[in-house]
Amino acid sequence: MNLILLGAPGSGKGTQSAFLAREFDIAHISTGDILRAAVAAETDLGKKAQEYMNKGELVPDEIIIEIVKERLRQEDAEGGFLLDGFPRTVKQAQALDRFLEESGKKIDAVIDIEVEDNEIITRLSGRRVCVDCKEVYHLIFEPSKNEEYCDLCGGKLIQREDDRIDTIKRRTEVYKKQTEPLIEYYRQKRFLRSVNGQQSAESVFKDILTVIKGDYA
Ligand code: AMP
Repeated sequence: MNLILLGAPGSGKGTQSAFLAREFDIAHISTGDILRAAVAAETDLGKKAQEYMNKGELVPDEIIIEIVKERLRQEDAEGGFLLDGFPRTVKQAQALDRFLEESGKKIDAVIDIEVEDNEIITRLSGRRVCVDCKEVYHLIFEPSKNEEYCDLCGGKLIQREDDRIDTIKRRTEVYKKQTEPLIEYYRQKRFLRSVNGQQSAESVFKDILTVIKGDYA
């Protein structure tokens, strides 16, 4: 099973990707996580990527395409993969198509998680992440018991640099301009399915499974 999850920042892609990767036992490939790990490790890639990420801009296509290709060549992606946060531009989608064709693979489904703009802003501005175990909380929807520390490991909770209000606005604009055209790109290829992202995480997951299994029925 090879899947792509589309959706604006804050649509719940990360949560649903984790559920799906577990359900189908496939590799979860999150370009945002790969880049954040590179930033934390202060690698050359991390230093380059950080400038774009902090501004809410996309990392250049050439860089991200190479990262994803390399990741897809790893053994654990052989049995299936889920792309979370990639592709984000038509150029990335075309590069992915070429790569998959060369490797004799195909995408089984592209799922778009739909969430309204004002909901996105509420979700992202309240998001907090544990610096140690990366558990995600929300000030309103899923607060930790002690506002500042992680319930699981006691690590400090922080706001992602790119979850600050100005950057959220920029990320949303970038999404509309550069990533939304992908919805049409995949719709024309007929494997796009949309689900309503404004429900509980469990209900969104159920809907995603229904559309995937419906395709396979
Ligand atoms: P995410 O966690 O998926 O929202 O990604 C965080 C940030 O990483 C984005 O705002 C971009 O700066 C960068 N990024 C992640 N995936 C991509 C991609 N496919 N293309 C370009 N930049 C990306």
